[in-house]
Amino acid sequence: MSILGQCPKCGHRLLHVNVEQVVGVVEGESKARCLSYSCIHCNAVVGVQIDPRSKPRPRRRADQPA
Ligand SMILES: [Zn+2]
Repeated sequence: MSILGQCPKCGHRLLHVNVEQVVGVVEGESKARCLSYSCIHCNAVVGVQIDPRSKPRPRRRADQPA
């Protein structure tokens, strides 16, 4: 059994994906860098994830010493 990943929209085999940097938004506020993967044939987005390369940005002001 072999794994043949297919685009759910156009049915092409998904040997390549376009990787795009996008921003995760929570309630209108930008929260995290994300990566979007889309089919190179029809541009259907097949997946989005938090960018693992992004640096954590500590935003907890309460924890920061003044
Ligand atoms: Zn496609």
